[in-house]
Amino acid sequence: MWRVSDYAFECLVVGAGPAGSAAAIAARRAGLEVLLIDASGKRRDKTCGDGLTPRAVHTLRRLGLESALPGYRNRGLKLHGFGGDVTAAWPDGRYGTVGSASPRVVFDNALVEEAAKAGATVWQDCPATGVDLRDGRIRSVTTARGEVAVKWVIVADGVRSPFGKLLGRTWHKSEVYGIAARSYCASPRSDDPWMHSHVELRDGAEAARAIQPGYGWIFPLGNGTVNLGCGALSTDARPARVNTKKLLVQYAAQQREAWGLGPEQDVASALLPMGGAVSNVAGPNWALIGDAAACVNPLNGEGIDYGLETAVMAVDLIAGAGKAADLTLAWPLALREAHGEAFSLARTAARLLTYPQFLPLAGPMAMRGLGGRYLMPAAARLMGNLVAEEDKDLVARAWRAAGRVAPRGGVLWGVD
Ligand SMILES: Cc1cc2nc3c(=O)[nH]c(=O)nc-3n(C[C@H](O)[C@H](O)[C@H](O)COP(=O)(O)OP(=O)(O)OC[C@H]3O[C@@H](n4cnc5c(N)ncnc54)[C@H](O)[C@@H]3O)c2cc1C
Repeated sequence: MWRVSDYAFECLVVGAGPAGSAAAIAARRAGLEVLLIDASGKRRDKTCGDGLTPRAVHTLRRLGLESALPGYRNRGLKLHGFGGDVTAAWPDGRYGTVGSASPRVVFDNALVEEAAKAGATVWQDCPATGVDLRDGRIRSVTTARGEVAVKWVIVADGVRSPFGKLLGRTWHKSEVYGIAARSYCASPRSDDPWMHSHVELRDGAEAARAIQPGYGWIFPLGNGTVNLGCGALSTDARPARVNTKKLLVQYAAQQREAWGLGPEQDVASALLPMGGAVSNVAGPNWALIGDAAACVNPLNGEGIDYGLETAVMAVDLIAGAGKAADLTLAWPLALREAHGEAFSLARTAARLLTYPQFLPLAGPMAMRGLGGRYLMPAAARLMGNLVAEEDKDLVARAWRAAGRVAPRGGVLWGVD
C-alpha cells in the first residue's frame, strides 16, 4: 500500500565522509534542499593514512573549506628503499604545491560541521537501511529516523557501500585492490614537511625476508604524532598473503629509531576498492561517489581527493540536469572522462606490483642512478594523484619491460 513518507528532501546524501560532506556542501551551494545522513556518530574514525594531496587541498579551497584544513602543510613525497632515497616535491601544476594531513576524526567532523553551516540537515547515527526503487529510480529511502522521499540521492557510503549494494553496486576483485593498516605514533619529527614512503617493504627485520607488493608510509601530522601504516596490493588471482597489522608492527620497529617513534596506537586495517573497479554506479536519479565508486588511486590508496572531486562533479551534473535527465549512463561516462585514463594507467602500474618477480628486479633500478632521477619522480606523481602526459609512456614501457602483454582495460564503472 502507498504510504506517505515521513520526510522529503530534494537531495539525500548517504554517508558523511569527505565525499558525502563535500557533496552536501556543493548541493547546498547549488540551491538544493539537502539531508546528509551517516550511520556513525560524531566521533567516527576512518582507517586512513590521513594524507591530503594538493588535489584535495585544491578542491577544499574551491569549496571555500580552508577552515577544515589544519595548520600543518607538506611539500611532497620522499621515497626510500632499494638503497636509494628520492625527494619529489609536489609539482607546480594546476593544483598548487601545498599538501597537508589531518587525523580523520578531526577532518571529517570539520567537514560535517561545514555542511551543517551551509544549511544541510544532518542526521548522524542514522543508517540508510532500505530503498523503494521503481524502474531503477529511487522514490524513497528508509533510514533509522523514518522514510525519506527524495528527488536525487548521492551515495557516499564508503568502501563496503552497504546502501550501494542495495542498488546493485558490484565490486570486482579480479582488479587490483588494496589491503592496508594504519596506526598513530608519537614522534619528535611530527612537523617534518614531507610524506615518507618506504617502497621496499619486507615482512621481517632481515634483508633476506620476502619483499611485499606494497609500501609503508609515515605521514607527519604536525600535532606531535605521525600516521604510520602499510599497504599491499592484491587481486583475486594473486592475493597478497600478508597480515598488514603484523607487517605494520614490524615496519614500525624498523623505523622506530629514525623517527623516535612511541608505541603504535589505534592500529586498524581496512580494504580499499581501487581504480573504478566497480559496476552499476548510477541510476536515473542516483550516483555513487568516492570510495563507493572505487575512486581511489591504485598505486597509493589515496582517495580523499577523488572523493571531494567526484562530489563536486555529481552535484554539477544534478544541478545542471533538466527534468528528463537520467544519470544511469551520464555518471559513469563523466567518471570515465575525468578519471578513466589516470586510473587505467595507475592500475596497470599497480598490477605490475602484484607480480612477485617485478619489485625485486625493478626496485633497485628505479631508486638508483638515472632511475632515481627520472622514474621515481614519475612514480611520485602517480602516487600523488598528479599524473603528467609523459607518465603515460613511462608506464607503458615499464609494463612492456616486465614482459607483459598490452595493458587490459578492465572494469571501469561498467553497467552489468
Ligand atoms: C589504511 C588506509 C589508508 C589510506 N590513506 C589515505 C591517505 O593517506 N590519503 C587519502 O587521500 N586516502 C587514503 N585512504 C583512502 C581514504 O580513506 C578513502 O578514499 C576516503 O575515506 C573515501 O571517502 P568517502 O567519503 O568516499 O568514504 P568514507 O570516508 O569511508 O565515508 C563513508 C561514510 O559512509 C557511512 N555509511 C556507511 N554505510 C552507511 C549507511 N548505510 N547509511 C549511512 N551512512 C553510511 C560511514 O559511516 C562513513 O562515515 C586510505 C584508506 C585506507 C584503508
